[in-house]
Amino acid sequence: MISPKIQDAINAQINAEFWSAYLYLAMGMHFEAEGRTGIANWFRIQFKEEQAHAEIFINYLLSRGGRVVLKPIADVPESWASPLAAFEDTLAHEEKVTALINNLYALAESEHDYATRGKLDWFISEQVEEEETANQLVERLRLIGNDNLALYMLDQELATRVYNVPSPLAAKA
Ligand code: MG
Repeated sequence: MISPKIQDAINAQINAEFWSAYLYLAMGMHFEAEGRTGIANWFRIQFKEEQAHAEIFINYLLSRGGRVVLKPIADVPESWASPLAAFEDTLAHEEKVTALINNLYALAESEHDYATRGKLDWFISEQVEEEETANQLVERLRLIGNDNLALYMLDQELATRVYNVPSPLAAKA
């Protein structure tokens, strides 16, 4: 059995992952409407990944005999001034998510819930990757500046991103 404290914290994280999914879906829709279909593709894959993160926590909570409580998902922004603005928001958001995962890890440790702590290892590595990727795209977009051809080429590149089921979920399927 899982403690009520850890259960509540994981439920809050499930909601945060769904909010992330919502945010990236909104970005995907926005750039689709702007004709930046590659950037839109990148965000729509990000949306799927965030849904998968929520599902990993859901499966974990169920496996521990816990109860999943799905709370309302708060509003997300609807538009961004530029691709750079969206990726800056992405980076800032991922830094916040990293802090949430770290807090969850610290809670699991203080509650002596080592199974939960172990489960979070994958998320800690995943956040390193999320921040690194977002940061690289922010830097590239800063270099691109107002160069439309360079932005077009980046858009083409991001169109090639494909969705891979995150390993903890693939193992479960
Ligand atoms: Mg996530």
